[in-house]
Amino acid sequence: MTPDEFRRAGHELIDWIADYRASVTAGERPVLAQVRPGELRAALPAAPPQDAESMDAIRRDLDALILPACTHWQSPNFFGYFPSNSALPAVLGDLVSTGLAQLGLNWQSSPALTELEEVTTDWLRQMLGLPEAFRGVIQGTASDATLVALICARERATGYAAARGGLASVSRPLVVYASAHSHSSVEKAALLAGFGRDHLRLVPVDETFAMRADALAELVAQDLARGALPCAVVATVGTTGTTAIDPVGDLGEVAARHGLWLHVDGAMGGSAMILPECRALWQGIEGADSIVVNPHKWLGASMDCSVYFVRDPQHLVRVMSTKPSYLRTGADDATINYRDWGVPLGRRMRALKLWFLIREQGLTGLQRRLRRDLIHARWFASRIDATEHWRRLAPVPLQTVCVRHEPPGLAGEALDAHTLAWVGHINASGRAYLTPSQLDGRWMVRVSFGVESTERTHVEALWRLMQQAAQGAGA
Ligand SMILES: *Cc1c(COP(=O)(O)O)cnc(C)c1O
Repeated sequence: MTPDEFRRAGHELIDWIADYRASVTAGERPVLAQVRPGELRAALPAAPPQDAESMDAIRRDLDALILPACTHWQSPNFFGYFPSNSALPAVLGDLVSTGLAQLGLNWQSSPALTELEEVTTDWLRQMLGLPEAFRGVIQGTASDATLVALICARERATGYAAARGGLASVSRPLVVYASAHSHSSVEKAALLAGFGRDHLRLVPVDETFAMRADALAELVAQDLARGALPCAVVATVGTTGTTAIDPVGDLGEVAARHGLWLHVDGAMGGSAMILPECRALWQGIEGADSIVVNPHKWLGASMDCSVYFVRDPQHLVRVMSTKPSYLRTGADDATINYRDWGVPLGRRMRALKLWFLIREQGLTGLQRRLRRDLIHARWFASRIDATEHWRRLAPVPLQTVCVRHEPPGLAGEALDAHTLAWVGHINASGRAYLTPSQLDGRWMVRVSFGVESTERTHVEALWRLMQQAAQGAGA
């Protein structure tokens, strides 16, 4: 493809994306993909084409085959999982990143890639109200960042012994603590970093589903008494189930007392901290050793853009660096080499999408949207609270409301069946998407607000739809 052919095809595809977004925003597509498992696979040729195909043929298949198998995360009627906004300025930034085809191996392989990432992650630090000591790096996902955090914790606790002799040279078992409501990525990171499932303690939560600092202190004392080495605690600001807020300050005190690494998982909730009125939720954050925030969720920066902040970048580099001779350059001491800030060597210019987003929206534009979403969640929660037979199951510190319709006489398994029936009915209709989830062993429904295109009218329509579906489900 020549640049001129690219220009023609590219203009057409930009139009295609714009048309797609317009139709999704207008609510013209079923939110959840209406396909059966294997349906798309069966419709695609099993073998690659021998001869070149036209861009027209490829685009026809986008419409006929690919789109019907997509779930539309940008739909204003998407209330599932969490918002993963891919704002259009971020889409353009990502397109430029691919077009420029920069590859970060060290500073000189793309000075722009490195320095734009330094500046943009520092903008984000300021937007979140984090102290100047924190330095940021863009990772693919929060799962990567949490893995890096636990490896750093392991190395600090063992005086870098694990790096030299491996875990076999560590005589006391190292222990990680996280809330029973922490994300599965914490368990995965603990396994991959070599702690072992036996040495991940799930700390009990209080009635708001937040980790109890007194329970953490007790578990640490027990572990010390039996000769284990408490190593790290992962606090979550905005848990996946209910967006519960672990008390970062109180947990930080326990961590400081015992020299534990404090990692804060703000993958979802961290974006809210661009609002000064939300920052009390992570009061004590300055005591964290590391923090992860995903701008590719609520903030709008398109997958994959997860920012990992550390207070001691030198420790991070000491843990992650290998420095083969062909990667060394004269500029090494004066510059950042992000290859030493995480697992991958080669990196793409992911800062561009965040830079485009922040500049095109401005801090005030981003704040306005997140405040709108918080108001949606509060309005919706107030409807639930005011309506007979509906129950809200958790506090609403952010943009997610956990609900159940509890008609008289239904309990236990019958109530579970009722919940799954009405939510299944909505999801199958394509008119909205909601995620059913378990809380304390019973099914409930998470209603997550925050898609960029969701306005008040969509929230009101959802509430009507839920009431109809719950009535229709026969209770
Ligand atoms: C989404 C989420 C994660 C995982 O994020 P990835 O970037 O997909 O790895 C981890 N923790 C919390 C609290 C999350 O909301």
